[in-house]
Amino acid sequence: MSLDGTYDAGNIFAKILRGEAPSVRVFEDEHVMAFMDVFPQAKGHVLVIPKHSTARNFLEEAPEIIGPLMLGVQRVARAVRAALKPDGLTISQFNGAPAGQTVYHLHFHIIPRWEGVPLGRHAEGMADMDELKDLAEQISAMIA
Ligand code: 5GP
Repeated sequence: MSLDGTYDAGNIFAKILRGEAPSVRVFEDEHVMAFMDVFPQAKGHVLVIPKHSTARNFLEEAPEIIGPLMLGVQRVARAVRAALKPDGLTISQFNGAPAGQTVYHLHFHIIPRWEGVPLGRHAEGMADMDELKDLAEQISAMIA
């Protein structure tokens, strides 16, 4: 998919938002939802998405959504740090297939990083659900 296109309400994150597909939730407020990535690139990889949005990518997003979304990303990133004590955090967001985007509902990746541990492959290798739930609980408990 290119940068241009029409929002598909059948995308997996839209289904998660509507409760039609499962997710391991970390945090939710009026503006954003955060849940564990099921194909994590590192232990504790979390996705943050805007709840009231039909933007496929960052460029399409309405200004009034961006502010609360970025505050949500920072809030969850701080909780990931507090819970998992990583040495670093990668926060990323892809726009268009050539940039690596695979799901077309705007989202941010929060990926904890540890010294000497390379980033795992993108969107590959399903996580153990019990481990994801445990990580989500740890992160959730640190939301301030
Ligand atoms: P993108 O490639 O669009 O930047 O990121 C999409 C992310 O969604 C990938 O990291 C991928 O692992 C994740 N993902 C794909 N399908 C699902 C799903 O059904 N549930 C969850 N929680 N994550 C998913």
